[in-house]
Amino acid sequence: MKNFNFKSPTNPKEAVKLATGRATFLAGGMTLIPAMKLRLAAYSDLIDIKKIKNLSGIKISSKSLKIGSITKHIEVANSKEVGKSIPSLALLAEGIGDPQVRNRGTIGGSIANNDPAADYPAACLALNAIIHTNKRKIPADKFFKGMFETDLKKGELIEAVEFEVPEKAAYAKYPNPASRYAIVGVYVAKLKKEIRVAVTGVESCVFRCKKLEEALTSNFSPSAVDNISISGKGFNSDIHASAEYRAHIVKVMTRKAISIC
Ligand SMILES: Cc1cc2nc3c(=O)[nH]c(=O)nc-3n(C[C@H](O)[C@H](O)[C@H](O)COP(=O)(O)OP(=O)(O)OC[C@H]3O[C@@H](n4cnc5c(N)ncnc54)[C@H](O)[C@@H]3O)c2cc1C
Repeated sequence: MKNFNFKSPTNPKEAVKLATGRATFLAGGMTLIPAMKLRLAAYSDLIDIKKIKNLSGIKISSKSLKIGSITKHIEVANSKEVGKSIPSLALLAEGIGDPQVRNRGTIGGSIANNDPAADYPAACLALNAIIHTNKRKIPADKFFKGMFETDLKKGELIEAVEFEVPEKAAYAKYPNPASRYAIVGVYVAKLKKEIRVAVTGVESCVFRCKKLEEALTSNFSPSAVDNISISGKGFNSDIHASAEYRAHIVKVMTRKAISIC
C-alpha cells in the first residue's frame, strides 16, 4: 500500500502523460485509498488530479449543467446553480455518504468507479449525461459497462459531466443506514424528448428500466407504476435485501420519485 510514487500535476495534459503502466488517477481517494489499504488494488504511481484547476467548477446554460470532474459532492449539494436548474441532483449529492465523504469525494471519481450502488451513475443515465474526457464525449448510455467497469480506456481522464436540464426530475433512495449507498435508488427524469428511469443498487451495474419508462410515458403519475410487474430476476440478493424485496422497493421508490417531481 505505502510503496508508490505520488505525483501532483497542474494541468490535464501532464496528468494523462503520467498515467501510464501501473499508475492511476487519485481524486478524493474515498474509494481508491481503502481499496489499496485492503490490498484489493496496488499501483506504482498515484496521479493526484485535485490541483488541476480547469477540472473543477459548475457551468449552467439553458439546456445543460456541466460539472467539472473534481467537483466535490458537498460543492454540488451546496451549489445555487445546481439547486436552481436540477434540484434533484443537489439533493442526490447531499445524500451521499457522510460529511467526510462529501467533503472529499468527487463526481468524476464516483462515476469512474461505477460502484453498483453509487448514486451519480443513476443521475447520469436518467439525465442523459455526456461524459467529457480528454479524448472524447461519451453518452452515459454507453459509459456504464458493468460492475466497477466503464468505457474509459487506460489513462483516459474524465474532465466534466454534462447533464441535460430536465423539465421535472427526482431521485428517491432507500439507503443502507450505515454507508448511505443505495440498496435501491431510482432517478426519474422527464426530459424534453423522453422520460428516463435509472435504477441503482439493484443489479451489478446501474440500468434504465424500460418497463417503467414506457408506463410513465403514457401516464406520468405514481399510479402508472401500479400494474407494472418487476420480477427481481437477476437482482442482487445479499444481507441487506433479497432480490424480491429489491423488486418491491424499485416500485416504491419510483412512486416516491414521481410524487416529489
Ligand atoms: C463510507 C463511505 C460511504 C459512501 N457512501 C456513498 C453513497 O452513499 N453514495 C455514493 O454514490 N457513493 C458513496 N461513497 C463513495 C464516494 O462517493 C466516493 O467519493 C466515490 O466512490 C469515489 O470518488 P473519489 O473522488 O473519492 O475517487 P477516488 O477514490 O480518488 O477514485 C476512484 C476511482 O476513480 C478513478 N478516477 C477518479 N477521478 C477520475 C477522473 N477524473 N478520470 C478518470 N478516472 C478517475 C481513480 O483512478 C479510481 O480508480 C461512499 C464512500 C465511503 C468511503
